[in-house]
Amino acid sequence: MTNILRTAEETTRRNNGSKILKLKLRVGAMSGVVTEALQFAFEALKNGTMAENAELDIEVVPAVCFCLNCGSNYTPDEIDFLCPNCGSANIKLKNGRELDLISIDFL
Ligand SMILES: [Zn+2]
Repeated sequence: MTNILRTAEETTRRNNGSKILKLKLRVGAMSGVVTEALQFAFEALKNGTMAENAELDIEVVPAVCFCLNCGSNYTPDEIDFLCPNCGSANIKLKNGRELDLISIDFL
């Protein structure tokens, strides 16, 4: 969260902004990030930064797996990652690990 705030401040400053109104994050369902914890960290860290009065908007994107055996794309459930089509464990996680700052609203 510290890095995200720093990036947001740098971007705002570079664009001649002085006050951040809103940050939008995209978080993958498999990133291990708990949105409540992120929200909490943001509230704790934003004091004294350009984002002091900003709100944090978190969009959670579902995980998508790709089966290397049969080529299926599917959303895994939390305990079972096996391909629902062929049962293979030879899979790759395509989406779901991201933690990206996607937009900044500032003045
Ligand atoms: Zn498969």
